[in-house]
Amino acid sequence: MKPPPFAYHAPTDPDEAVGLLAEAGAEGKALAGGQSLIPLLNMRLAAPSVLVDLNRVAGLGGVEVDADGVRVGALVRHAQLEADTAAAEAVPLLGQGLRLVAHPVIRNRGTTVGSIVHADPAAEMPAVLALLDGAVEVRGPAGTRTVPAAEFITGPMETALATGEIATAARFPRPEPGTGTAFVEISRRHGDYALCGAAAAVTLGADGRVTRARCCLISVAPVPLVVDLTPQLAGGGAQTDEIDEAAAVAAERTDPDDDIHAGADYRRHLARVLTGRALAQASAAASASAA
Ligand code: FAD
Repeated sequence: MKPPPFAYHAPTDPDEAVGLLAEAGAEGKALAGGQSLIPLLNMRLAAPSVLVDLNRVAGLGGVEVDADGVRVGALVRHAQLEADTAAAEAVPLLGQGLRLVAHPVIRNRGTTVGSIVHADPAAEMPAVLALLDGAVEVRGPAGTRTVPAAEFITGPMETALATGEIATAARFPRPEPGTGTAFVEISRRHGDYALCGAAAAVTLGADGRVTRARCCLISVAPVPLVVDLTPQLAGGGAQTDEIDEAAAVAAERTDPDDDIHAGADYRRHLARVLTGRALAQASAAASASAA
């Protein structure tokens, strides 16, 4: 299928991009890697009359690693970030999530920030951002602002971006010392969106006991579902029965839908199993980092 007609702009200046989007209003869409937007146009599930291509806009590229964490520019492709060893060392959950995003061909073109803005409830990178308490840098007609991850995605495919605003970068903080992370998921075929996925972060104190534990579930709620499991695991050694209890608490918080791919009960079951696996792996990674 072919997309409906649209006007195409390819600005090179960020303020020009913002101006074009503001002028187009609800009829305008930014284009990044096109791996989600172009299929939506071709299937006629979206019909913006103006596309503003961000790919030539100056200042939107680059991965920066510093003491705080990793800053990912809006034009950084999933594959570029996945290959960045300094970023992977600073924030291991980036690589753990990225390897689960689609297929290598899609990761070659799709952008990590575009995935966060697209806000698919099944997408991995919004969950990584949410679990790490990251943030999105935004530029719009009124200037720049930074939106915390917890406030950025407001619903399925909905964000806090206002008309004319673009996301210029995402910031992924370093986990605190003693933290291990993991991301596991189940999909019908390799590379498909997950039926359910779970990211986890477990922090161990000097005595090897858990001081903080959280998970973030995808595909089982309208937005990435962050659940604080510290009350279930703190003070213990993340033993199997403690993890089972924590996983049950996380699964109870889910609100999955029935769809053609899986029923709600099955997704809730997956949420429990996958949270348990992610917590066990994250706990093992935390122990290994302390050794
Ligand atoms: P685009 O398609 O260009 O844009 C997507 C949306 O975000 C549009 O509404 C656009 O206007 C907006 N947008 C993008 N960037 C900005 C910005 N900087 N500022 C403002 N608005 C912006 N993703 C997963 O997470 N997991 C998967 O398992 C997965 N599987 C896939 C399988 C297939 C077959 C395909 C085709 C895609 C899959 N994807 C998956 C999606 C892929 O990760 C996309 O690349 C990503 O979701 C969107 O990034 P993009 O750069 O391609 O954005």
